[in-house]
Amino acid sequence: VAEPKHEDEGVEEEKIQTKVTYNIVFVTAEAAPYSKTGGLGDVCGSLPVVLAGRGHRVMVVSPRYLNGTSADKNFASAIDLDRRITVHCFGGEQEVAFFHEYKKGVDWVFVDHPSYHRPGNPYGDIHGAFGDNQFRFTLLCHAACEAPLVLPLGGYTYGGKCIFIANDWHAGLVPVLLASKYRPYGTYKDARSILVIHNLGHQGVEPASTYMNLGLPLEWYGAMEWVFPTWARTHALDPGEAVNVLKGAIVTADRILTVSKGYAWEITTVEGGYGLNELLSSRRIVLNGIVNGIDVSEWDPSSDEHIGFHYSADDLSGKAQCKLALQKELGLPIKPECPMIGFIGRLDYQKGIDLIRSGIPELFEDDVQFVMLGSGDPQYEDWMRAAETIYRDKFRGWVGFNIPISHRITAGCDILLMPSRYEPCGLNQLYAMRYGTVPVVHATGGLRDTVENFSPYAGDGSGEGTGWTFSPLTKESMLEALRTAIMTYRDHKSTWEALMRRGMLRDFTWETAAIQYEQVFEWTCNNPP
Ligand code: ADP
Repeated sequence: VAEPKHEDEGVEEEKIQTKVTYNIVFVTAEAAPYSKTGGLGDVCGSLPVVLAGRGHRVMVVSPRYLNGTSADKNFASAIDLDRRITVHCFGGEQEVAFFHEYKKGVDWVFVDHPSYHRPGNPYGDIHGAFGDNQFRFTLLCHAACEAPLVLPLGGYTYGGKCIFIANDWHAGLVPVLLASKYRPYGTYKDARSILVIHNLGHQGVEPASTYMNLGLPLEWYGAMEWVFPTWARTHALDPGEAVNVLKGAIVTADRILTVSKGYAWEITTVEGGYGLNELLSSRRIVLNGIVNGIDVSEWDPSSDEHIGFHYSADDLSGKAQCKLALQKELGLPIKPECPMIGFIGRLDYQKGIDLIRSGIPELFEDDVQFVMLGSGDPQYEDWMRAAETIYRDKFRGWVGFNIPISHRITAGCDILLMPSRYEPCGLNQLYAMRYGTVPVVHATGGLRDTVENFSPYAGDGSGEGTGWTFSPLTKESMLEALRTAIMTYRDHKSTWEALMRRGMLRDFTWETAAIQYEQVFEWTCNNPP
């Protein structure tokens, strides 16, 4: 007779046996390490791996970008599946191929077409955004809808019962295609679509005439139709009626997620909704937010291959060494006690670079060092280069996209500044906290959700919090928060170290987020469209 089991043991075993697993298909314009320009790449490179580790069958569909640089080797292990499909769009027939690599438990599927083979990043080159992006991502969406049906990965197709996770506007046609082209004819009846909004600022807006090119049934025009609100008219190519891919996805997706709860609320407001706030409010019942995790093996100060000295919350000595090494690498005066501030990110109006630019002269009245890493808007790139010569002993502006340097800045700085106008989640503040680098951030979206404002007298008197959140978004309030942080760093060493440690010990793993994603899968599958 078998020994009676301990009560909890039996329950645990039962849970494992009855855990529901899903076939999940991520559709995305970028997935690290194959392609990455920002947080979208990080998320679509990490979350699929964690979900696969939790027992789900996971495919990621993304373009096979070849730009003639060393980055092409990222796709070297993906093999041609020798399966072609024809996509009818933009007035012609387009043949696309599929490449595949099975790695870390995930089927990485790369859609191949000549329009993905050109210099630049996934979206554009030095001259700006590619003019045919709508075409390129229309192809991606059509191909992604076919992939689960036609690709025998590991011998078996995923089939029609799967959950599509459409990320941002580039994948926005996926839920529209499911609703308009497949479900009415019996395919994908049991599939579900989840739209994940990483950034509402980009929506895939084109003149109304583009609708004819998207390969959608005529009668579905209403789902995509968008009458420009007044604010958008100043940017419009063609004021008045347009098609908006993200709007189509918001209308047709079974469920909508954003990458933090704060941002899920902000996009339903006039200020944060970019013209889609009323529509998003009307879908509030299916709208929620899940804060991104981070890849804690890639971002680990105790083993990071990009930094010269390792450290942990138990022994911070390596961080001081990383700071000296960074000062040396950047050619800044070697000053262990001088507060060092960092910024990493796209040089975009969204990220509040203009605020940094206007605040720097006053900030540099004090003895501080500041290093920025980023690329994007040429006016900010030029300013960074010019500021280097003006503030030779205090400022370095590294123009470019460089992952090893981003790790060394994260490890070497004392403070990370993020004055973003809006920030759906933000990853750099999470990396910073894990590396004992204290974030100073504008209180918005995911920044407000993840950085706990320091309160010196809370708890048992030793303080609580992991950084500083400032508001409103003005130069004055940013400088005030920075000065408070700098003063704490200089004059209250033990308080500072406690701040560092609290951040380092926060749980930002993807496991926590993946459990919440599973709850959304369950809800979505139990509630037919
Ligand atoms: P967003 O997605 O809006 O660009 P996030 O903070 O969510 O912002 O993610 C940005 C990601 O891109 C982070 O992993 C960040 O380290 C990385 N990144 C941004 N700019 C650079 C750069 N110039 N060099 C290296 N990594 C960068």
